[in-house]
Amino acid sequence: MLRIFLSLFFCLSLAAPAAADTIAKELFGYVPDASAQTAAAYGSYSKGCLAGGEQLAETGSTWQSMRLSRNRNWGHPDLVAFIERLSKKASRLKGWGGIYVGDMSQPRGGPMLTGHASHQIGLDVDIWMLPPDRLNLSARERENLSSISMRRDRGAYVNSKWTRQHMNILKAAAKDKAVARIFVFPGAKVQMCKDAKGNRDWLRKIRPWWGHHFHFHVRLNCPEGSKGCVNQAPPPPGDGCEAAESWVQDILFPPPPDNTPRTPRPEIVMADLPNQCAAVLQSR
Ligand SMILES: [Zn+2]
Repeated sequence: MLRIFLSLFFCLSLAAPAAADTIAKELFGYVPDASAQTAAAYGSYSKGCLAGGEQLAETGSTWQSMRLSRNRNWGHPDLVAFIERLSKKASRLKGWGGIYVGDMSQPRGGPMLTGHASHQIGLDVDIWMLPPDRLNLSARERENLSSISMRRDRGAYVNSKWTRQHMNILKAAAKDKAVARIFVFPGAKVQMCKDAKGNRDWLRKIRPWWGHHFHFHVRLNCPEGSKGCVNQAPPPPGDGCEAAESWVQDILFPPPPDNTPRTPRPEIVMADLPNQCAAVLQSR
């Protein structure tokens, strides 16, 4: 019922183009489906939108999308293909029968009403740290099941739930050519720096970040030849292990608090987004 109401609201709101000062999440947050356009990512991961998004199937042979009510299982076709690839690899890895897939993007990307500063152009996905027991969860189970946290001491270390299998799936993801970087809590990166054997090049793509202990976040490169998609600068050269260690030190021995008043991050309005995003909203 809510969906029908929202769709109706959305159809009515299509009649006129959005004003430049409209708060973008108030529009993108209610669009029920993808735009009828060629697939394209416009803008940057934290300021952009998605044309011609593809919906990840709710259940595949090696994955399930979680929290279906959020309607965030949409992405650029490259992202959907990546998830299928990674989940197949996972199904062959010890300890993983497949993967549980968390948030991707909204049907037309853009800023969200809740959570996530990024995930706006259909090239970001959260993968649960919880290895699936089964891949036939009902929609209700997918709302209520929780992932598991892997961290100890506010993310300085991994806890006892962390396994070699977690490193192996992160490694499999990092080795995928489409992947630009992966965000995970600092303690996990440091643990992998200790445990990785042989070629360590893949570690470069694994970047320490706040949160990210219930899931890891995979970010793809802009699709080949896509105009208007803005890549993030590549990670600095090297395996990044020293940088991760300094994150850990900052967690354990926090620097003195910075008391300068913080200005809240301003809301993203339509004028902040690439021009194409108005057309993405307007498209059928
Ligand atoms: Zn994420």
